[in-house]
Amino acid sequence: MTLFSRLAACPVRIRLRRLAGIAAAGCLALALAGDRPSRGVDHFTIVRDGTTHEVRGRTITEAEDGGVIVLAPDGRLWIAQPDEISERRSDESPFKPFTRAEMEAALSREFPGFKIHTTANYLICHNTSKEYAQWCGALFERLHRGFHTYWSQRRFGLRPLETPMVAVMFNSHESYALHVKDEIGEAADSVVAYYSQASNRINVYDLTGIEEFKRGRKGVPRTRVNEILSQPEAARQVATIVHEATHQLCYNTGLLNRLADNPLWVSEGLAVFFETPDLKSTTGWGSIGQVNQHRLDQLRNYFPSRPGDALWNLIRDDDRLKLPASRLDAYAESWAMNYYLLKARQADYVSYLKLLSQKQAGVADSPEERIEEFRSVFGELANFDRDFRRYVDSIR
Ligand SMILES: [Zn+2]
Repeated sequence: MTLFSRLAACPVRIRLRRLAGIAAAGCLALALAGDRPSRGVDHFTIVRDGTTHEVRGRTITEAEDGGVIVLAPDGRLWIAQPDEISERRSDESPFKPFTRAEMEAALSREFPGFKIHTTANYLICHNTSKEYAQWCGALFERLHRGFHTYWSQRRFGLRPLETPMVAVMFNSHESYALHVKDEIGEAADSVVAYYSQASNRINVYDLTGIEEFKRGRKGVPRTRVNEILSQPEAARQVATIVHEATHQLCYNTGLLNRLADNPLWVSEGLAVFFETPDLKSTTGWGSIGQVNQHRLDQLRNYFPSRPGDALWNLIRDDDRLKLPASRLDAYAESWAMNYYLLKARQADYVSYLKLLSQKQAGVADSPEERIEEFRSVFGELANFDRDFRRYVDSIR
């Protein structure tokens, strides 16, 4: 299996930058959706790459030059640049997200031949075996419960879901790649699962290989799926699914805001913090906040050559996490930052996350703003870095 590259996990950031860039270069000010008197529905005709999309929904961000981010009833966020919008009108009917039944019907239309496995909080649209979908559904629900308990104990009030969360599961890498290539392009070959902030869905193919092996034969016993996924070698696959599901939870419960300029060390570090396998658990994942030994070893190897401005660079922009040469060290550091903050500076981190959760979709912060925001909660970076390194050294 190829390595999961999280660089492409948020492909929409490219467009986000473009929207924010246009707003900043053309006119500086953004008219925010919250300031608009109408809570009705906006209708857009968007023409992109020769294809026309009729989009209706609630405009959540509007740049002064006319670029918009629109929330559609199925939870998708449409980003449209001014030159892509050929028509626009509004009506007064209230915006209503899809009900569970409407969401199911829309998925059935979009994925003919797929089945839908429903759980309390998820719709799993799949052409894998029922057993595999059920196994993943149970994992998602376990994570969902753990996630809510974790944050309520830390006094971060999560908001209820507007719509059930959607995961699309493919029985082969080919069918997965065919579906996701429009969004992530070539990365479809190396990214085995990802959560899309634009579609609000997790896309994944059967990571056990069981579906490809058994395709054409019926009735893979559930025990077999359990058997495969509870082996220590499957821990990485399970962690990948939990990682993506954590992203989805962060953005659907108000911990972070979709398409906002969230520092990548926060969003990725949180996902790595939650994904950490619990090797004592028979399901490969059972508890939150374990030491991620693999990331810790990576970080300790990096420490002797870590430059003095490493922390400053991690916070000011996302480059260290995006560039292949620095990515692994930066992921390890992002995990450790989240580990340190959630274990040793919990109240401060919750305050910081509350600040981030207020960010508007499509609006970019400058590097200076990021540094200042961090400093306003955690104090001087040099002191923070000293305490952080001491803490990491003390982890056993
Ligand atoms: Zn990620």
